[in-house]
Amino acid sequence: MPPTTLNDFQSSAAALDRAASDAFASAGSADTLEKARAEFLGRTSGRLLDLQRLVPTFEGAERGSAGRAFNELKTSLEARLDARRIELESTARASRSDVDLTMPARRQFRGAEHPVTLVIEEIVAIFREIGFTVATGPEAETEWYNFTALNFPPEHPAMDLHDTMYVAEDVVLRTHTSPVQIRSLQAGPPPIRVVIPGNVYRLDPFDASHAPMFAQIEGLAVDEGVSFVDLKATLTHFAQRFFGATRTRFRPSYFPFTEPSAEMDVECRLCKGAGCAACKGTGWMEILGSGMVHPNVLDAAGVDSEKFTGWAFGMGPARIALQRYGIPDIRVLYDSDVRFLEGLAR
Ligand SMILES: [Zn+2]
Repeated sequence: MPPTTLNDFQSSAAALDRAASDAFASAGSADTLEKARAEFLGRTSGRLLDLQRLVPTFEGAERGSAGRAFNELKTSLEARLDARRIELESTARASRSDVDLTMPARRQFRGAEHPVTLVIEEIVAIFREIGFTVATGPEAETEWYNFTALNFPPEHPAMDLHDTMYVAEDVVLRTHTSPVQIRSLQAGPPPIRVVIPGNVYRLDPFDASHAPMFAQIEGLAVDEGVSFVDLKATLTHFAQRFFGATRTRFRPSYFPFTEPSAEMDVECRLCKGAGCAACKGTGWMEILGSGMVHPNVLDAAGVDSEKFTGWAFGMGPARIALQRYGIPDIRVLYDSDVRFLEGLAR
């Protein structure tokens, strides 16, 4: 068995998924479907079995990833096979009996996971591999958790009624997932390594690139001796895993809760940095904001900022989903239009 990389394994799995799905879908009779089943899911010589044999050639976390990818593929192909079998049986039944063939057919509704969910799950999986756990928190937060503890000055414009949805005098619909950073820091002493997915709310117009509710995902790492090197190395690793990006760049930025702060861009995959419509001619895609956790934030959460340091990042899975799936308008993600999800289902 030739040694293979996890990337090769994953692309083989994707190719197998496409080939098997196409074969099942185009099978016009029980016999051809059975041939397709034997080719892909055969117990002694199927193509899936060849892929399974590669799983034990990986070590450690990679073996886990390969095993999971294999199991997901197997489950989904078995489900597709069953669904197609039922379709063919009902067609065969219909042609045998004296039912009214002029009646409109009942469509098979086949759903799919929402693109934002898929993006979040993939991001979480990458950080899980390197020791991060998932943390969540309430969507209605006090001003203290949402702003004050995160080093927002009392007169910061984000706290304005025009920007933030207030539920009560001192309670807001969280404007970012960062309050969960404070809650994670309060929950126990460092080391802390968490990723925080969740929905956030802002008084933004509902247009092609804004929505008043959207998903965000953040990360936080706090320990003794954590430096900007850890931030750069970890986020670059993430960019390579998630985007297959060969290059990243960090640009200075400003956030109240980090100092120094940086935006990370990844090289545009479509044009490899040459500049195209997708990257607005820059050759780079803006992906996330990051920075070293401000000492005031650690102090507010009761963590000794003389002893501990940390870094954090935040990004918008919806924007990443738009890029990845070539969706031109963010509203499509929130419209609950079944035709959209059916289009993504295969
Ligand atoms: Zn480009």
